[in-house]
Amino acid sequence: MKVHNFNAGPAILPESVLKQAAQAAIEFNGIGMSILEISHRSKDFQAVMDEAGALTKEIAGLGDEYKVLFLGGGASTQFGMIPMNLLETNETAGYSNTGTWAKKAQKEAKLFGNVAELATSEPDNYTFIPKGYDIPDTLKYFHITSNNTIYGTQYHGYPVSPVPYIIDMSSDMFSRQLDYNQFDLIYAGAQKNIGPAGVTMVIVKESLLGKVNRQIPTMMDYRTHIKEGSMFNTPPVFPIYVTMLTLRWIKERGLAKIEADNKAKADLLYGAIDSNPLFKGTVAKEDRSWMNVNFIMEDRSLEPEFLQFAKENKCIGLAGHRSVGGMRASIYNALGIESVQFLVNLMDEFAKRKG
Ligand SMILES: *Cc1c(COP(=O)(O)O)cnc(C)c1O
Repeated sequence: MKVHNFNAGPAILPESVLKQAAQAAIEFNGIGMSILEISHRSKDFQAVMDEAGALTKEIAGLGDEYKVLFLGGGASTQFGMIPMNLLETNETAGYSNTGTWAKKAQKEAKLFGNVAELATSEPDNYTFIPKGYDIPDTLKYFHITSNNTIYGTQYHGYPVSPVPYIIDMSSDMFSRQLDYNQFDLIYAGAQKNIGPAGVTMVIVKESLLGKVNRQIPTMMDYRTHIKEGSMFNTPPVFPIYVTMLTLRWIKERGLAKIEADNKAKADLLYGAIDSNPLFKGTVAKEDRSWMNVNFIMEDRSLEPEFLQFAKENKCIGLAGHRSVGGMRASIYNALGIESVQFLVNLMDEFAKRKG
């Protein structure tokens, strides 16, 4: 490992995945060509697409009523595609506003129908996950953001929805064991926790679709991509390949081990933040994210010096999102606990110097 990579996204990938991807970029499957040079309709790539979809369903424990798609456009395109496909102009969808991405999703939905903001933590700088609100059964669907990448909050226990349940899992997909069947549509930009930039995983229950009257552009219609197996047009071949390799890595470890490792990393880092007198957390303890750990310094004027110190010691990507400042350590699946321990040691060392 060259550095300790705490980038928020695009982010760290397993080293074994990078090596296989590098090899495939030179020559794929012994066919005398790079994966970058072959037809997406070749049998070699079809096998990749099929395996990526099958692994997704297997890891999530989902049945055939769910379809797995690999699309371009990022998770941000899903913000609009979801209401375009599911919400009539005169219908209302429910959203919980827990951060920048949740709010952006809500904004796009308003272009297609009515939005009820059922809960929000925006007035409190998104420092907690709202709980205990009512989700009316008259809504067309209910949308939440599982992990708030920028603010460092995450659902630990989801509300129960009486209507179709939609979740943005961009920054915590396959980070823990879950009943994925409780959701009707799951989407995730791959570049945080399950692959590289350029592809978005969408898992959708087919029975949700085909119920709105509006004309949907062919490329924006989920049914097009279901029918064509994510190959209506040229899909992002290489990002899908790297995602498939990452899914193999996830399956091999199993979600139980991945969850245990992620919990251990989060406990170690939050423990240091709470016990080191120089540092403190920024969000409600019960809602702390296991993926993005936000923290600040008691004396905020010391933050640039700490970030510089971390950088000199090969800890990369620790500056908080430009909209919130402070520090953010993203500790996704592929980051080893030794990197977290290294950061904790640096925090101790910094405290000694200042103490
Ligand atoms: C990064 C992120 C997005 C946006 O993803 P893009 O693929 O860049 O569009 C959406 N939701 C969440 C939770 C994210 O972390």
